[in-house]
Amino acid sequence: MKLTFWGVRGSIPIPGAETARYGGNTPCLEIEGSGGECILFEAGSGLRVLGQDLMKRGTSLPAVNLFISHTHWDHIQGFPFFTPCYIPGTKITIRGPVHYMEKKTLQDIFANQMEHEFFPVSNQQLAADIAYEDLSETELEIGGVKIRSQYMNHSIRSLGYRLEEAGRTLVYTGDHEPYYNMFADADGDAHEDDLLFEGVDDTVDQAVKRFIGFVDQADVFVVDCQYTPDEYPSLKKAWGHSSWDYCLDWMQQAGAGRMILTHHDPLRTDEALDAIFQDVQRAAREKGIDPDAIMIAREGMEVTI
Ligand SMILES: [Zn+2]
Ligand SMILES: [Zn+2]
Repeated sequence: MKLTFWGVRGSIPIPGAETARYGGNTPCLEIEGSGGECILFEAGSGLRVLGQDLMKRGTSLPAVNLFISHTHWDHIQGFPFFTPCYIPGTKITIRGPVHYMEKKTLQDIFANQMEHEFFPVSNQQLAADIAYEDLSETELEIGGVKIRSQYMNHSIRSLGYRLEEAGRTLVYTGDHEPYYNMFADADGDAHEDDLLFEGVDDTVDQAVKRFIGFVDQADVFVVDCQYTPDEYPSLKKAWGHSSWDYCLDWMQQAGAGRMILTHHDPLRTDEALDAIFQDVQRAAREKGIDPDAIMIAREGMEVTI
């Protein structure tokens, strides 16, 4: 599998001189299987740039398998600008979860952002052959690539994906926050005298184990790392994202080979990300993790698994 990062920023695109090296586009990750399978994670603004690149490759457009972790705007906003949507005959399948309280389908949600108040072309006017599939936890195969999805911890229903091809494994979390006991007080103590909250810590432990099991022995682990340990959990708890100290723990516990940190906070300049990377590598060394096995995602980065 060959990975190419087209967008690595969380929340909102941030172009400009201060973010030119790592890039300002919201999430999009391309995975090319060894049989030419075209699997994409996320339709952030990076999808627009990928679309331009696909058009320049000189071959007929591949069948596009677009998976989104969830429907937050930074994960779907690039779709109306994805040029292959406007090319007749292009086959595009979009898969992702819909929140359990939501009555709309995935197709409805993609169509919403293309209503005339927001965009001049409606979803129904797109020339490509586009199919939508509401996804839950499941297993499927795209050519020679096996894909398994599992719910992550986010403010709406969000899926992580585990891909396997020829014995090599990629795990992508999408947006994910460490599991925690939301009924515990500020010191982390649960209200153990309250019967209603009995067993919550066990539930959290089981969720963490299940998450680690999902990442188990991944050759490459691409993980949401929007925050630093100074920001999370004191300032950003319940915002749906992780900090790098948790990511290092997960990498170690799951025995992942390499880890790529992504979904960078929009406040980070290139210099800030350089400084964070140094902190991460120092902490990795202290934990006995090879610092060279950790990367910070940047636009244009290619990784072969
Ligand atoms: Zn996001
Ligand atoms: Zn989100």
